[in-house]
Amino acid sequence: MIQVPRGTADVLPGEIELWQYVEDKARDICRRYNYLEIRTPIFEHTELFQRGVGETTDIVEREMYTFTDRGDRSLTLRPEGTASTVRSYVENKMYGAPQQPTKLFYIGPMFRYERPQAGRMRQFTQFGIEAIGSHDPAIDAEAIALAMRFYEELGLKNLHVELNTLGDMESRQAYREALINHFTPHIGEFCTDCQSRLARNPLRILDCKKDARKEQMATAPVLLDYLNESSRTYFERVKKHLNDLRIMYEVNPRLVRGLDYYTHTAFEIMERGIGAVSTICGGGRYNGLVEQIGGQDMPGIGFAMSIERVLLALKTQGVELPIEQSLDCFLVSMGEEADAKAFTLMDTLRSHGLSADKDYLGRKMKAQLKSADRLQAKAVIIVGEDELARNVAVMKNMTTGKQQEVALDAIVESVKQITEDGR
Ligand code: ATP
Ligand code: MG
Repeated sequence: MIQVPRGTADVLPGEIELWQYVEDKARDICRRYNYLEIRTPIFEHTELFQRGVGETTDIVEREMYTFTDRGDRSLTLRPEGTASTVRSYVENKMYGAPQQPTKLFYIGPMFRYERPQAGRMRQFTQFGIEAIGSHDPAIDAEAIALAMRFYEELGLKNLHVELNTLGDMESRQAYREALINHFTPHIGEFCTDCQSRLARNPLRILDCKKDARKEQMATAPVLLDYLNESSRTYFERVKKHLNDLRIMYEVNPRLVRGLDYYTHTAFEIMERGIGAVSTICGGGRYNGLVEQIGGQDMPGIGFAMSIERVLLALKTQGVELPIEQSLDCFLVSMGEEADAKAFTLMDTLRSHGLSADKDYLGRKMKAQLKSADRLQAKAVIIVGEDELARNVAVMKNMTTGKQQEVALDAIVESVKQITEDGR
């Protein structure tokens, strides 16, 4: 028996409706905030992620699905969406469009070689947004507000926004030195990854999962103390906009994001009930990235969340999404001539926008009616040989139980009446 690869899953009918609902909600929210959808390839040149995510990140160091294709190119299944979106922004010269900033969103599969557990998959689907080309702190607040409105409208409660700032490049540089001074005397006690991070990217030490409980982690200097004036002001303005929108947040000075290109605002949204993996959304500002990928110096801000973790949070909180699953009409028939008539009537109903189905297994009347029940058909049309001779059929309204004869050429109208009554 061949099974799905570890860390991947089939989404079957019955569950897919939840995905569709959540994805439709994401698209609707993005429409209201004026973010436009972009679809980029599932694989990219490996170099894009090395440059755009950063050589010292977990993703690039050990999580990428990288392969050589038959033309000897190194390609990688995308582990996240920001690098690809920014590549496309630069490649398609979106900075030249009259309307700026460029506001984009994406929904699609991402791939990371991880240790699978609840909410952590090797293939997962991310919904993310990116706003490129504005330094306005209001757009940082807009990104957080968009995510929170999305969760609110799905019915999620008690989410926590954790907020921090990484400052601008100058502040980060000063902080970097402070971290090196702090960790150097003890670095021998840290994992080998942290040892190599010390010189390359000491900020990443703070994000280490292995050494998280070391004393030096708790006593490490915090970035807030190393912010220069303009970074401090920027952070204050982001917070003011969040206050204006009445979005609650907690400043967590230890919050660093895994990716190298973040500057200023960093945030995570958590649902503390879903277990070890409680972050459902992560995002922040990446003023260094566009240049890093070969574009001009352009600021950007975005977030990403996986649909898997959103569904996990909904399940944990016991939220029932309002999903309606029903069929407008099921056609029941017995005998060759009646079957043929039911088949063409069904086609007519479908051509008028109604959903319709019939039996294809030659089952008895009773079993056919059972199918109609199972499919939650709103109307059932029974085509019998006797009625056929008179150009009528029996129609049953499954909500009221009422049954009546209807003329065959009035069937579309009659079924529509029933489905519209049911709304
Ligand atoms: P974590 O600390 O949980 O590994 P991360 O820092 O790697 O998260 P990001 O790269 O910021 O996560 O991705 C943003 C979001 O994508 C996460 O908040 C989460 O919702 C989702 N996500 C990341 N990795 C996975 C995964 N392996 N499976 C499912 N969802 C994921
Ligand atoms: Mg991760």
